[in-house]
Formats: sequence, structure tokens, C-alpha cells
Amino acid sequence: MRLILASNNPHKIEELRHLFAGTAVSFSGLSDWPALPEPPETQDTFAGNALQKARFVYERTGIMAVADDSGLVVDALGGQPGVRSKRWTPEATAQSNNRHLLSALDGITTRTARFVCAMAVVWSGGERVIEGYCEGSIAVALRGAGGFGYDPLFLPDARPGQTMAELSAADKNAISHRGQAFTHLPGLLAEISDT
Ligand code: IMP
Repeated sequence: MRLILASNNPHKIEELRHLFAGTAVSFSGLSDWPALPEPPETQDTFAGNALQKARFVYERTGIMAVADDSGLVVDALGGQPGVRSKRWTPEATAQSNNRHLLSALDGITTRTARFVCAMAVVWSGGERVIEGYCEGSIAVALRGAGGFGYDPLFLPDARPGQTMAELSAADKNAISHRGQAFTHLPGLLAEISDT
């Protein structure tokens, strides 16, 4: 079974290869399809964006496409940064986004938040979206050197006292929103190949 992951992110492609090691599922990423334009991401929900990207790739290649869209949802900020997580500040760097998050929550004690990942699969027989979540809260200072994005400020409930950036890659995958969403992919592919 052949699949395209609608992403240029080598870490995501590597994670998927890992998940399907030893199976008959083979993956390529967008870098293997240089003629394909960058898929659009103009929706206002994670699920909408993931579906938009997967449809875009499937319609142009005819090959089953998988896409994900993820971000941070902070309760005290009415769900911000949400789908704007990557470009929340004009600089669009992890450093400026994290600085902005700390100042937006300055003096606020309710700091609950979650990472959300929507994974969309589009194939000849239909389409499906599955969401994964990682519940936690926002720390008062950055800690840890691993991961990316908001990881140094995110305290996952599943690992009390540690930020996401202090976890090993394997430990993060075991509890992360992306890990939760993508663990459903092997089952979904088995279901599809049976139909
Ligand atoms: P993407 O949709 O996976 O590219 O994620 C969009 C943005 O959400 C990233 O640029 C990060 O700012 C944030 N984000 C998504 N997943 C994570 C994560 O696992 N850790 C930290 N930040 C994340």
C-alpha cells in the first residue's frame, strides 16, 4: 500500500516510517513530488486544514494522502493561538511565540491548555479525520532543550513536573497529540484495504 504524507517535515515522515516499519505500507513525502505546489492551509479548524491538505494532494496524484494539522489551544486565551500557532507573532519563530504566550498569560493563574492534532486521510473510497489531544498547562518559564515550538512551556498532565521539551523523543511520542492521532492510522489502513 502506497501513501503520501502531505508534509515537507522530515521528522513527521520519519515518525510514520517508524510506525509502519516491517509492514507493506510505503511512504513518500512532498519532497519526493517536487512538481506539487505547497498545499493550502486556509481553514479555521485543525480538521478543516488537515482535510484541505490531504484532498489537495490526493486530487493531484491519485495516491492515498495523509495530512496533519496541529497547534496549541490555551483556555484562558479563548483557544488561541489555535490554528495560528505557527504564525502567532509577526516573526513566526518559536522564541517570539513563546515570549508572546508568557506575556499573554502574565498574572493569570488558570493556565490549562492542550495540544491538538487532526490527521486526515483521503483515498479513492472516501476520507476520514481523526483527532488526538495532549492535555496540560502552561509553565511560567521556559525549560528544556528538546522538541520544538511551544514544548519548553508545555507541562503535559501525563508527565507531572516536566515540560514537553524535557522529554525524550520516544517519551513525547508516547503521549503527544500527534502520537495519539497517528496510532489510529494502522487500524484505518487495515480497514481500508479490507474494503
Ligand atoms: P504543524 O501543523 O504540525 O506544522 O504545527 C503548527 C504549529 O503548532 C507549530 O509550528 C508549533 O508552533 C505548534 N505545535 C504543533 N505541534 C507541536 C508540538 O508537538 N510541540 C510544540 N509545538 C507544536
